[in-house]
Amino acid sequence: MKTLVLIENDALTRTLVAECLTGMDWMVLEADNGQAGIDLVLKHQPTAVVCDLRTPKRNGFQVCRLIREQPSLKNTHVIIMTVSRFANDRETAFAAGADDYLLKPIIPSELLRMLAGCGTNGTAPVAEPESLPRVTGPTSIRFWGVRGSIPTPGHDTSQYGGNTSCVELRVGDQIIILDAGSGIRRLGQALMKEVTEAGLNVSLLITHTHWDHIQGFPFFVPAYHPRVNIRILGYEGAVHGLRGALFEQMQSAFFPVGLNQMATHLTFEELDDMQFDLGAVKVRTIFANHPGICLGYRLTTPDGDVVYMPDHEAYERCEVERQKADHESSSHGIEYARIQDGKVVDFMQGADVLIADSQYDEAEYPSRRGWGHTCADDTVQLAMRAQVKRLVLFHHDPDHNDGRLDAMVERARGLVVEGTAKLEVSGAKEGEEIVLGKPSFAAMSS
Ligand SMILES: [Zn+2]
Ligand SMILES: [Zn+2]
Repeated sequence: MKTLVLIENDALTRTLVAECLTGMDWMVLEADNGQAGIDLVLKHQPTAVVCDLRTPKRNGFQVCRLIREQPSLKNTHVIIMTVSRFANDRETAFAAGADDYLLKPIIPSELLRMLAGCGTNGTAPVAEPESLPRVTGPTSIRFWGVRGSIPTPGHDTSQYGGNTSCVELRVGDQIIILDAGSGIRRLGQALMKEVTEAGLNVSLLITHTHWDHIQGFPFFVPAYHPRVNIRILGYEGAVHGLRGALFEQMQSAFFPVGLNQMATHLTFEELDDMQFDLGAVKVRTIFANHPGICLGYRLTTPDGDVVYMPDHEAYERCEVERQKADHESSSHGIEYARIQDGKVVDFMQGADVLIADSQYDEAEYPSRRGWGHTCADDTVQLAMRAQVKRLVLFHHDPDHNDGRLDAMVERARGLVVEGTAKLEVSGAKEGEEIVLGKPSFAAMSS
């Protein structure tokens, strides 16, 4: 497949050009300004570039000149696209290094004619894996889905977001996805822009196969792309269940595309051990207190430790409430529950970021005891005991609107003050990014 970088500020025109190439042997990477386009060109070394003359940040002439300054791009076919019929612009474009000049409104056959020769005279060299530009950078976490149980789009959940669990962890050029709830759909769209001739490698860790953690996978577009390798791995129980669960949810009664229509680059790895390495990341797991096989993950990165435990019910309060409901009094039962909580605290110990189940508040928890989720008060207590640096309340209840979640975050912060702990608390919001090593949460720009 050949790669084309499309640099155009107008979304409609981008769509039009992309549509012209649908079903052809082209992968289109889009940028809405010249600088972003240049970044894509340098990163992906495309076969062709289509650039509007009047793009913000770098105009089409500048883009042409910058491309022609790069020896590795000498075969890249550059098409300047414009509404300008001025002869001067046409001449300047060719002088800057353009191969073709395409007038708007675009005639698809004209564009295809210009691109037709690219495969023979301008195929970009396929980069060897070792010569790929390495994306280096800090470790970052991005939230694509923060909700538990079922997606809840709506005006009253727009602040925190309505998609189910999906978190992206970047460690340098390594991409690790935690869970495949409905949030993975948008993550997939974003990742498609990073697919190069040499492909893209993604690791996916699934905590468990409840629907809210896998329902987005059939809509994860990279899974259908032949150059994307997806490695799904984890402890045996979770992963084995995943293969079966995905197969089931993609049966024809439920979904139009079968699992076997996803390319063969989808690998399921069942690990015997509860800990394993993922490139530069060391992964440890713990069984969560949740129906079925459900894991929590601790990922040790060069920039700090991240613990992800989206579905878990703290033991002690669960036992206390059970005894109340059953008119029972057993100090042994409470003690045992405390020991179990202690193991969870050990697992979370000293984490830089803890992303943890906080589905219920203290008023509603008793009526939901035994459903496998934690009262947010307990999440705060566990985090304080474990001397975690940042706590992100996660797996929001579908019935909790933005106002209710704001109140839960405020209460959690109050508990931290009462406990005189040094713990930063926030509620997970779709689109938010945490960069490890930085002191506060930064909003994602797109
Ligand atoms: Zn869940
Ligand atoms: Zn669950």
